[in-house]
This record gives sequence, structure tokens and C-alpha cells, in this order.
Amino acid sequence: MEVILGIDLGTTNSEVAVVQGGRPILLSDDGDPIVPSVVGLDPAGRLLVGRAARNQFVMSPERTVRSIKRKMGQDVTVPLGDQSFTPQEISAIVLRALKERAEKALGRPAAKAVITVPAFFNESQREATREAGELAGLEVVRIINEPTAAVLTYDPHPPEMERLLVYDLGGGTFDVSIAQVEQGVVEILSSHGDTSLGGDDFDQLLFDLVSSRFETEHGIDLRGSLVARSRLFSAVEEAKKRLSSEPVTVIEEAFIAEKDGMPVNLSMEITREEYERLIEPLLTRTLKCLDDAMEDAHLQAQQIDKVLLVGGATRTPLVHRLLGSRLGRPVHSEIEPDLAVAMGAAVQAGLIAGIEVGAVLVDITPYTLGIEVLGVQAGFESEYCFSPIIERNTPLPATRTEIYSTTADYQKEARIRIFQGEGEDTRLNALVGEFIIQGLADVPAPNQVLVRFDLDLNGILRVTATERATGLVRQVVIDNMMERFRKRMHAGALARIESLFDEWSERGESQETPEGTGEVLESGPMVGGGPSHLAEDDSELRDAIREADALIGKAGRVESGAHADDAAELQGLLADLRSAMARRSLDDIRRISAEVENVVFYLEDR
Ligand code: ADP
Ligand code: MG
Repeated sequence: MEVILGIDLGTTNSEVAVVQGGRPILLSDDGDPIVPSVVGLDPAGRLLVGRAARNQFVMSPERTVRSIKRKMGQDVTVPLGDQSFTPQEISAIVLRALKERAEKALGRPAAKAVITVPAFFNESQREATREAGELAGLEVVRIINEPTAAVLTYDPHPPEMERLLVYDLGGGTFDVSIAQVEQGVVEILSSHGDTSLGGDDFDQLLFDLVSSRFETEHGIDLRGSLVARSRLFSAVEEAKKRLSSEPVTVIEEAFIAEKDGMPVNLSMEITREEYERLIEPLLTRTLKCLDDAMEDAHLQAQQIDKVLLVGGATRTPLVHRLLGSRLGRPVHSEIEPDLAVAMGAAVQAGLIAGIEVGAVLVDITPYTLGIEVLGVQAGFESEYCFSPIIERNTPLPATRTEIYSTTADYQKEARIRIFQGEGEDTRLNALVGEFIIQGLADVPAPNQVLVRFDLDLNGILRVTATERATGLVRQVVIDNMMERFRKRMHAGALARIESLFDEWSERGESQETPEGTGEVLESGPMVGGGPSHLAEDDSELRDAIREADALIGKAGRVESGAHADDAAELQGLLADLRSAMARRSLDDIRRISAEVENVVFYLEDR
């Protein structure tokens, strides 16, 4: 069968994928699927593409071209060494490198491709992309929108009509699109964005912060030296990425400057909090675009069924937090956000080639993992607060670190209790291990302890506690997490089936409704189980929340056609339901869900 490549030709990075064994897979070289969209010439005039070209950008900008995607479709040329090239030609070089990488990985020629473009690209930008493909020796069988590709990755065969919001924050551009999927057809209802907002801006802010602090400290402006600037730019980008999984990081560059003939080193600690304060105004701008996209699509937040995160910069935890709270629902980033578009392009390519494509398989943690801390719960101090460290649905392997503080002065030891589950109260979750870090420094509270979780693909969880001031370390390794996850899911399923049967037997074995009594069987989500199950296992709660989530989507759809009064009543109920979900109160979720169902039923009927 012929090969059709799926290509994400990005502003910052590009990737190539194909469908193999019914699933999209990325093609990598040396294990890295990401090719920076950068083209250059080395001092001897030889062509550089990808990482090598990117590495020389700051030092030799006159021999390097980046972000060419911004110029696609324009009648311009860019200089490269002593020649000049059209945007199509530069893009063709990137595409040609991807084609060769694919052929090497597959061991056979590849002549056709599906290439993605932003939803806002106009005809001439799309035409230029097609031409770039042809210059690279590829027949472009289809150009598809990036958000469409992301939707295809998550849901190759959606069971029913769904509305998805795709939030794509890459290196240099941001866009948000609302897509509607029905019978395998993805339609983009609206798309908004900012073509000069992305991870590069975060790097710039961090760069400015570090250089001005360095100047205050040493009286040297690193921005004045090309070499220092170049080193600092890569250092801050790496630091920024680390801050996505660590609460604090140190930027270290030896001999970055010279003073009075002596070398000066850079060693600066940056906390995630400081970094988030820097970038928050930029992320707030993305929320404005989001509002515009929702308005254009004539939709309310609760009418969105799923939120997909795309683009490397969405790995930033603050993005998850801001979006989750703005839209009142969890966001999806189970599929590596910078690879999802290329995978979707491959899914589309597979569909064109007539290959059966299944869902993307990713290893994720099915439960949240975290530790028990003292904190405030529902307004009261509690010693059973659950502090999540690795959120559920995080792709594996995963490493996350959080910072905690002792609460008592001169506290010599701290007990680290590790739980899995979604309850805010650890008594709702399962204890998977515990240990004590002893010999903490003799200091008043708060004394900071870093707790790091490493969960690998084999389900081995390594928990490391480090006293920040002294570097004192204690570690525990918990094996068989996957086994535990499976057992818990199994127990959850058992409990659910049991409770269904409880109700069934209570009703009497006969499923027949007694004739003539007018009695009807109760239906809906009120079956079985009481709060007592909750203490043992929260799978019922999770199911109720999932059902409530679907109900909110459904309610949003009928609401648009309802009278203002009815719509207002429904809005009120939905607000109550969301609050019950936030409180994770199973009883309330069930009670209010039933009310919402009645109203929806009534409105649908009219
Ligand atoms: P594009 O779509 O613009 O080609 P990508 O989707 O590949 O770009 O995103 C690239 C951006 O994502 C860069 O700014 C990069 O620094 C950023 N990025 C990559 N990994 C992380 C991470 N772990 N945390 C924060 N930002 C990241
Ligand atoms: Mg992209």
C-alpha cells in the first residue's frame, strides 16, 4: 500500500507521522521527532536544516532563516548567505528534510503528503504551502487545518456530534478554534488568534528578567555580547521547559562574561511563581481571543464538549489552570501537545489511503498521584488535604516536583504519605506508600521540602523528598503502580456492578412492571450505591461527574432554543451542578443532575 505522510509544518517546529498498525506514529531521528523549522548555511556554505540550523541562529543570523511560515503567501524573498529565497523554497527545504527522515525510517520512498496549515490561512498562503510541498518532491494530496488535525488525533471516529475547543499555543503564534464533529466530518465554526504570541515571548521575558538581575548583581549587560546573548537564550528556554514540571530551577552558565580580566559565572534561581507572574498578562490575552471565538461560534462555555491543548507552550501548568477555571471543565493534553497536529495529519492521510485508523494509544496515569498535607478544606483546617503532584491523564513517563513547607518550628522529620485518587480529602483516595524524611535542619517553620514524583512506563513510582536548604534526601520506590491502577479500576467496576444488582434484587428478580399498578421503574443516574461507597472508592463519583459533564453539554445545546426564562432557570441549575461537581458531592451531583435531566427533557420536547 502506498505511503502518505502526515506533516505538521510549524512556525517553530515541524514533524512527520504515518499510520502504522492502524495508529499514527511519529517518525524520529535519534529518538527526537521534532525538527526545528530553521534553515541555514554553515560557514563553508553547506546546508543546515533543523537543530543544527537553529543552534547557529543567534550567532549567525545572516546565514539562518527561521519562522518562514509567517511569510508564506507573500511576494517577498529572504536572504540566506549571498543568495535569496522565496518563502516556498525555504519551506520546501524543511519539507524535504522531513521526507528524507520518513523514507529513512520507513525504508521506502514516500511521494505523497497531507500538510497542515493554520485555520486562518487564506488561499494564497495555502497555495504557497502546496507549492512548497511540490518543490520538496511531494504530491500534496490534501491541505488540512491544524485544529482539524488535532480533533482527528483525539477522536478519529466520534460517536455523536461533539463541539471541541482547540487551544493551540506554539512558539510564535497562538490560535483558538471551535470545531464541530459530526459523522467523521470536522467543521471549524470559528477561529481567532494572535500571530505574534507564543513560547518565544515567554523566553524573551525570562531573558530580560535574568539579564537585568545579572546587571544589577555584576554591573554587566549580557545583552551587549552576541555570544552571551546566544548562550542565555538557549539557557532560558531550557529553564522555561523545566519550570513546567519543577517549582524552581537554577539557570547556570559558567564564564558567561568577564570583569577586570576575571571570568564571571551566571547562577540564578527562578521560581515557577516568578515565571508565572511574568507570563500571566500574555496568557490573559489568549483568553480574550477565546471569548471572541466563542462569540463568533455563538456558543457558551458549557456547550463545549471537550477542550484540547495543542502546541508545546501549553505544557505550562498555568495554561491548564487558567483554561480549566475559565471554561469550568478539565482540559485534555493526554497526547503530547506538540505532536498532536502531525498525528492528526497522519490520521487524515490514512483515511485517504483507505487504511482503518483507530484511536491513538497513549500511556497515561488513570489516577491522580499526590501526597497528604495540612490545609484548608471547605473552610476548615484539615490534616487530610490531598495535594496532587501528577494529575490523572498525564502521559507517561512523567516527572513532577512540588514544594512543601513544614508547619511546626524545629520540626525534625516529616511524614510523606502518597495517595492515588481524585478526592480532595485523602480519606477518599487510596494510600499507596509512605515514608519519613528524618534529620531535617533545626530551623523554625517554614522549612521547605521538595517532593518529586517519577512515574515510568513500567508503572514504577519513585518518590524523592529533598530538604531544600541542606540537600538532605530520602526516597521510596513503589513498584507495580499499574497493577494498583488496574486493581482499583477493577474494584470500581465490581462495586458498580454490585450496586446495580443490589437495586435489581431489591426490586425483585422479575424485571416486569406489575401490570395495572401504574408503577414505573426509576431510571436515570439514581441507581444503587450510597455515600458509604464513597469512602472506599470514588469511581462512582467519577462516573457521576463524567455523566454530569455530558449532561452539561447536552443542556447547553437545548438551552439556545429555549425561552429566556427557561434558559435562566437552566443556567441556575447548571451553576449548582458545577458547584456540586467542584465540591465532589456525589449526592448533590446526582440530585441536581436528575433535575437538569427533567428540564432538558421538557425543553427538548417542545
Ligand atoms: P509551533 O507550532 O510554533 O511550530 P510547537 O508546538 O512545537 O511550535 O511549540 C514550540 C514552543 O513550545 C516553544 O516556544 C517551546 O519552547 C515550547 N515548549 C516546548 N516544550 C515546553 C515545555 N515543556 N514547557 C513549556 N514550553 C515548552
Ligand atoms: Mg503548531
